[in-house]
Amino acid sequence: MARSRIASELDFTKEGKHSGFLRLPHSVHRSAYGWLPIPITCIKNGDGPTVLLISGNHGDEYEGQVTLMKLTRRLVPEDVRGRVIILSAANWPAAMAGMRTSPIDEGNLNRSFPGDPNGRPTAAIAHYIETVLLPMADFVIDLHSGGSSLMYIPSALVRLPKDPAQRAETIEMLKLFGAPISMLFDMPQGEDRTLTGAAERVGVRHFGTELGGSGTVTKAALVIAERGVARLLDHVGVLRRPLHAEPPAKTRILIVAGAPYYCYAPDSGLFEPYVELGDEVKAGQAAGVVHFPDTPWREPTTAYFERDGVVICKRIPGRTERGDCLFHLGADYRGD
Ligand code: CA
Repeated sequence: MARSRIASELDFTKEGKHSGFLRLPHSVHRSAYGWLPIPITCIKNGDGPTVLLISGNHGDEYEGQVTLMKLTRRLVPEDVRGRVIILSAANWPAAMAGMRTSPIDEGNLNRSFPGDPNGRPTAAIAHYIETVLLPMADFVIDLHSGGSSLMYIPSALVRLPKDPAQRAETIEMLKLFGAPISMLFDMPQGEDRTLTGAAERVGVRHFGTELGGSGTVTKAALVIAERGVARLLDHVGVLRRPLHAEPPAKTRILIVAGAPYYCYAPDSGLFEPYVELGDEVKAGQAAGVVHFPDTPWREPTTAYFERDGVVICKRIPGRTERGDCLFHLGADYRGD
């Protein structure tokens, strides 16, 4: 396998707390021999597991970035047993622009794995994460939210493991994280271009979130993220002392298992929602309508839910195009 061209300023084997940049070579008109500075911190103290913490995979998802910047400054070697690596602006050009995708190459990092060491910056970052950072890790936490176009009820999310023992441990971790909603993803067509897909290929346990979204940061979402991450770090054994003592709040465990859980805009225009986050809906129920500002006398087109469930994600911008996700549902998990 070809080696990454990204050079780390950090020596990940060194004891103590170190911060610096991953240098991604980027030769452009204004900077012939330049590199993109992707910030990274490594806190190591003796033997123990390695946990990789990631945010800014999508640059417009801010709750995770704030959480990991605060943790970067707070965590000291005395807290750690093993190693914690924090990559808080994973797709750095996207994070600096406050965009889901990179303004340099339009790359969506979470659709770019396994990446390419000789590719454009987003592909090179994906390749570095999959071939350098993930192989060092025992556990990866990837903090997402709804970004600019979607709003979630703050949620944790994991892929539903097939193995019963793994499934039980995963559900334990969802309860420990303590978000209002926990999503078990069991999609018939698994997306393998994501960090989740990369973690599965490398054999690293993965835990994700959808903390809120619509390009905002709320106090409530940050409390959920900060406490949840602290409890998970403690649970996997990478802390010498807990970061806080609050017990988790109760979580509602839902399953998301395929296309019928999603509701898409059937037409392009102005979206009028008929439901809101947290509403319980039935198959065949109208989700909303799309109005036509160019022909206001035309009857709006109705979008329908394909199955029963609870609304956990909603499109935020009023303007919509055919194919945009308007809502997505979860259904109460009945297994185990
Ligand atoms: Ca995301």
